[in-house]
Amino acid sequence: VATAFLARTGGNPHNAFLDINSEITLAQAQASDARIAAGTAGALEGVPIAHKDVFVTRDFATTAGSKILSGYRSPFDATVVQKLGASELGGAGMVTLGKVNCDEFAMGSANENSAYGAVTNPWNTSRIPGGSSGGSAAAVAARLAPAATGTDTGGSIRQPASFCGITGIKPTYGRASRYGMIAYASSLDQAGPMARSAEDCALLLSAMCGADLDRDSTSLDVPAENFSAKLGDSLQGLRIGIPKEFFGDGLAADVRAAIDAALKTLEAQGAKLVPITLPRTELAIPVYYIIAPAEASSNLSRFDGVKFGHRAKDYTDLVSMYKKTRAEGFGEEVKRRIMTGAYVLSHGYYDAYYLQAQKIRRMIADDFQRAFAECDVIAGPVAPTVAWKLGNNASDPLADYLADIFTLPASLAGLPGMSVPVGFGEGKMPVGLQLIGNYLQEARLLNVAHQYQ
Ligand code: GLN
Repeated sequence: VATAFLARTGGNPHNAFLDINSEITLAQAQASDARIAAGTAGALEGVPIAHKDVFVTRDFATTAGSKILSGYRSPFDATVVQKLGASELGGAGMVTLGKVNCDEFAMGSANENSAYGAVTNPWNTSRIPGGSSGGSAAAVAARLAPAATGTDTGGSIRQPASFCGITGIKPTYGRASRYGMIAYASSLDQAGPMARSAEDCALLLSAMCGADLDRDSTSLDVPAENFSAKLGDSLQGLRIGIPKEFFGDGLAADVRAAIDAALKTLEAQGAKLVPITLPRTELAIPVYYIIAPAEASSNLSRFDGVKFGHRAKDYTDLVSMYKKTRAEGFGEEVKRRIMTGAYVLSHGYYDAYYLQAQKIRRMIADDFQRAFAECDVIAGPVAPTVAWKLGNNASDPLADYLADIFTLPASLAGLPGMSVPVGFGEGKMPVGLQLIGNYLQEARLLNVAHQYQ
């Protein structure tokens, strides 16, 4: 199986991969065959997977889509990579196909912020695949890999899944270990699977999750769960909340039509649509674009030319080495966010921006709890439009930020969210339905998503 997928990655279609090493992959596949022969196969034995390049890997390069990490090799595997990998190390037995492209340090909504070039959407190569897990989504959509890992800080699993017509789930914050996941905004970052179906995502998520208390202090102390168990449950009587703020003027007519049709399908299965309100939806944008850059400005201070990857050549002293390294190594969007983050955390602005954002973040989480008193699951669009054209927002980073409006609220609240393909919009581009659940309700989301397959 690995050989067949490796053959498909030849020539690197869609610029989806950043590192491929067929020798390593085939050695892993051989070890996997040996486990099958010995009767010690793991739950996902031998199934190939591509990892987003923000997960550190021992056997493949890790760049996080940044020039500053060119040449970096991690001495260990991220917990998620380990949990999916060789069963001798406690993993599910999957075989790594390689590392896939993403926005630099996962900052972006179009995969155009990668230092290693944009990724194209397999449905139409003049369009973006979404981001930041654009390589993961394109690889699965183009059948270069049966599955991929992604990370979602403000939508980076759900939005590229929606734009590429695949399924992706971001679990409850804390479900999957962040150990070895290169940090963007630590209070928001969460790993999750991207694959063809809810069924595949359930298998992958069951293997990825689990407490990792010694290595990730925000890891949730809940037992691993079998997310496949409730896939076939009936939707009879299920209350699906429809937030009116997700269906306002900003929602494109083609996406709305696809979502409306998808909701009818759920009604036909006995689910009840309940109107709800998430009144602070619009505030999620400024709140997120204060908190995420604030955390990023701190997290990215470790890339100083001393410990990891790139170091500038001609420098006079330590400070000039730091400055030159960071000036050369970071891309424009990353620099913009470090500057924004340092600004909102600085003396005199901290109360006005950062503290205020934290307060509204709490109110957004409370709004969800009020909504979940009236419904079991929330449904709506993932993004206001289908995937846009490459280069469309090149001179306007704010346009990308605004398009995150429907994914940011669940991220800020730490709730599980997913995207399931339900139709097509303008230009025959895929449309995903977003499902948001209360804490630890991933099985419910997968159950609803499974009805479309
Ligand atoms: N588009 C958002 C951002 O640029 C979300 C990215 C993500 O979830 N990693 O920050």
